[in-house]
Amino acid sequence: MRKVALITGITGQDGSYLSKLLLEKGFHVVGVTRSYTTANVKNLSYLGIQEDVEIAECDLFDIVGIIHLLRKYKPAHIYNLAAQSSVSLSFDQPIGTIKYNIESVLNLLEAIRLSDPTIRFYQASSSEMYGAVNSLPVSLSTHLNPVSPYAVSKASAFMLTNNYRNAYQLFAVNGILFNHESYLRTENFFVKKVITQCLQIRQGKKEQLGVGNIDIKRDFGYAPDYVEAMFLAMNHDSPGNYLVCSGKSISLREIVLHVFSRLGIDPERLVIDPSLYRPSEIEDLYGDNTDTRSILQWNYAKDFTGVLDLLIEEELANS
Ligand code: NAP
Repeated sequence: MRKVALITGITGQDGSYLSKLLLEKGFHVVGVTRSYTTANVKNLSYLGIQEDVEIAECDLFDIVGIIHLLRKYKPAHIYNLAAQSSVSLSFDQPIGTIKYNIESVLNLLEAIRLSDPTIRFYQASSSEMYGAVNSLPVSLSTHLNPVSPYAVSKASAFMLTNNYRNAYQLFAVNGILFNHESYLRTENFFVKKVITQCLQIRQGKKEQLGVGNIDIKRDFGYAPDYVEAMFLAMNHDSPGNYLVCSGKSISLREIVLHVFSRLGIDPERLVIDPSLYRPSEIEDLYGDNTDTRSILQWNYAKDFTGVLDLLIEEELANS
């Protein structure tokens, strides 16, 4: 019988790529969504796997609903990817972000502890929780110093996951993900916004690209490769924390200029809009992936400008 993997946030970017990978690995994939009626399965259908996954509705605020889900599907692994995942939106919706991103994780961990502590659990943690760091690259011993409501929520969920591993001996993994992009990203994220709006400029449908502070730097990678690290961490002998990153940062300005040059757009079309600045910002962030690559045998060597070229190509093929 096929092992069951349950994925929360299956309709998102990572949930869709992870589903594809787990199907290839022979798992029966059950995907959790907040609501059947509003669930947007276009990512799953884009990857051609909509019919291969089973979709279940569950409100992660409802621990009884989660326990029913665990009894019904008996998952071997749970990947928790559901979250209010936007840093910018978290400044407008701090309470919703904090409530959802922490309580959903606590409920999942408690449900596992109470119903079947042998279930393996993966938490999608975020590099944002390191925030204003004193030194780079980020390592597992870097102090947490979150500077947004999103980052605070992810720091708490990270600590809960560590606590359930240490106190209750659950197989609980934190994959600490740095920014990772793909064609499946939504347009409220920077890289996707830049590519789609530049295409609109090229097609004469838009005049300018408006951006906020583009002198900040981040460690960007490619989503289909990052979900492989999730799988490897969950199938390792023991649970742990892993930095999933490329190992170097690139400024948002370099990203914009690369996309402009690939699409032949005049740099004059770039407009800095101070209303898009965030209330607090991290200047530079990149991580050290040496341990993740050696412990998990994860191979990642992509340069982000090469990833941008892949994304532009896929966007053009679908426009
Ligand atoms: P995503 O595309 O935004 O998908 C997240 C999914 O979570 C949504 O499809 C949604 O599915 C579900 N969800 C549940 N509650 C939500 C809420 N209150 N608001 C919005 N969506 C909610 O995220 P992703 O890029 O795949 O990221 C997966 C996980 O990795 C997230 O936890 C994210 O915080 C974390 N992460 C991502 C990155 C990155 O660069 N992508 C970096 C660090 C960490 P339904 O509507 O079907 O329920």
